[in-house]
Parts: sequence; C-alpha cells; structure tokens
Amino acid sequence: MPMLEVGYLHIDNPIAVISSHNQPDFNDAAGLLLLEGFDLDEVPLEEMQASLETISRNARKGTGAFGLSATCSQDEPLLEAARLASRNLCLLDLRLSKIPDPIRLLELIPRLKRCGVTLSLRIRPEDLSNALLEKLNESELDIIHLDLRGLNGAGPKMVKKAKDSRGPVIMALADIGEFEDARNLLAMGADVVSLRGADPEFAEWLSGAMQEYDSLSGWCNAPKHICAGGDLRGLAFCCPPVKSCPVHGALKKAGMTPEEFVQKKLTFAKGTPLEKGDGTCFGSLVWCCKKSKMCYLRDAALDRIGLSGKEYMGLKKKLAEELLSKSSS
Ligand code: SF4
Ligand code: SF4
Repeated sequence: MPMLEVGYLHIDNPIAVISSHNQPDFNDAAGLLLLEGFDLDEVPLEEMQASLETISRNARKGTGAFGLSATCSQDEPLLEAARLASRNLCLLDLRLSKIPDPIRLLELIPRLKRCGVTLSLRIRPEDLSNALLEKLNESELDIIHLDLRGLNGAGPKMVKKAKDSRGPVIMALADIGEFEDARNLLAMGADVVSLRGADPEFAEWLSGAMQEYDSLSGWCNAPKHICAGGDLRGLAFCCPPVKSCPVHGALKKAGMTPEEFVQKKLTFAKGTPLEKGDGTCFGSLVWCCKKSKMCYLRDAALDRIGLSGKEYMGLKKKLAEELLSKSSS
C-alpha cells in the first residue's frame, strides 16, 4: 500500500527529488520525481510532452510518482499544462514566479483543478500570509510545497503552522544534509520532503533509508508529543486532559473541548487493540506515548496482546487522522 495517496498520485516514500528537465536525475528510489524549468512563456508545451515521454522511458519503472514544475505569465498555457499533466497522471507543481498576484492565483487554482490535475503550489513563507494560507486551505489545492531553503532552523516551525491549519498535504523543500534534517521536518508535519540540487547518491540513499524507516516504524512522519512542541497530530499520544499542561492549548487550536477529546479517543479505541492496556498509566493504550518513548509498562501491555510497535503506531496514525478529520470536528 502506498505511504501517501494524494489525488491520483501514489507516493511510496516521503522523499521527492527535484531536478532540471534538461538534466533529469532519475532516482528510482524517490517517492516523487519533479522536473522543473518549465517557464511556459519560454518553453513550448511540446517540451513538457517530450519530458513526460523521457520519464516513462528512463525512470519510475511505471510505478513511481512524478511531476512537472511550471509557471507562466498567461493562464492558457498553464491550463494546457494541467490537461497534459492530468492525462499522464502527473503532478503539476505551480511556481509563483510569474504569478505574483494572489487574486490571480486564487482564481487560477479552481480553473486548473477543473482540468482534473493533481496540483501543488510551490511558495516561499514570505509570500504565504495567514490570509492566503486560509484561502489556500479552502481551495482544492492538493499540496502546499513550502520552499524553506535558507531559513536556518525556522523551517520546521513553518511546517507546523501549515500542518496545524489543517489544509492540503505538505511538501517541504529544504536544505537537507542528513537523515535527521528530513526527519525533523516530517515530525513537524511534512508529508513529503523535497530536495533540489542534492547529490544524486545522497538523494538515493535518503530515499531508501526513509522507506526502510517507514516500514519499520509504521508512521515515518509521526509527530512529537504536544508537550515536546509537536503539531496537533501529537494529540494521538496525549494523556486524559485532567491536569494543567499544553494539551489544553492544543485542543483549543483543534476546536475541541476536553470532553469531546476524551469521547473521540474512547470511541476510536472501542473494539481495537488500543482499548486494551492493563498496567499502563491510564488503563488503555489509547492514552499511551509514542513508541520511541521508552516505557516498560506499555511494551509489556503490547506484548500481552501481541501487538507490534509498528501496528501500534499505525493505529495511532489512524487515531490522529480521526481526531483531526474536519468532518468529525
Ligand atoms: S496530555 Fe500528556 S502528552 Fe499531552 S501535552 Fe499533556 S503531558 Fe504532554
Ligand atoms: S504507560 Fe508508559 S507509554 Fe503509557 S502513558 Fe504511561 S508512560 Fe506513557
């Protein structure tokens, strides 16, 4: 089963590789391959078509996801590109360089989406005001592609802010030098981390390492605990809200009362292995901590019911989705 499904894309691992369409890096291990450089004021659509043919000849082995990054001062070529991308089940990653006017952008998104395309928007944090983020969250945009390069450590906070606004899938483009850099962004809520201009060997190694980490952990972008600065998905690891601690601020942000939170957790746990948990602090695994936090009590409870750490985290992931689903809020 793919790690992430967004629109018609099936993404098997959380690393995306961005390279120029003139010099593509065909990294077969990456979850998403993005070819950029399609300024449609300069580059004819035929080149996009040719790139798609090159991708299907040389890479992705017919399974991986791919996309094209484009911008244009006119709408019509972008609409053509959206139709082309949609026919080829390919992501269209819209770049803002030729679309500086937010009004044009917000009108363009629904027109592009009507072409059936899976759409992302690459945007720098300085261009993303709170008002625009709110509008994008209300739009049909599939992915916000945050360009966090050069932010020197502020990137994870930006990701958390976008994640907690509960909008589209988040892809974070950042300066990644090691596994931990990528993992920090994922732990703050990025669904995909994209690399641009990375050493191809490093990108391939990182893609493989992430895939392995996901298959071992069961939730490769699991959040931190709320009290450790995690995003709202961390509510899945929270205790019952009976004492004064950061859970109350998180619940307020999530638009839930403590009573609703307790009810939602108990309802989700009913009939699942999370309902069990004799000997744990609160008598049920639904209130228990992240697997990476050492705890003999929880691990003994997991052993007793034969639930692996990976299955436990998989259930916590579903719990987080349920707690934050807009339909249930
Ligand atoms: S409820 Fe528990 S896990 Fe959540 S913020 Fe409070 S102390 Fe931390
Ligand atoms: S039993 Fe362990 S994992 Fe569960 S809530 Fe207590 S400390 Fe956390």
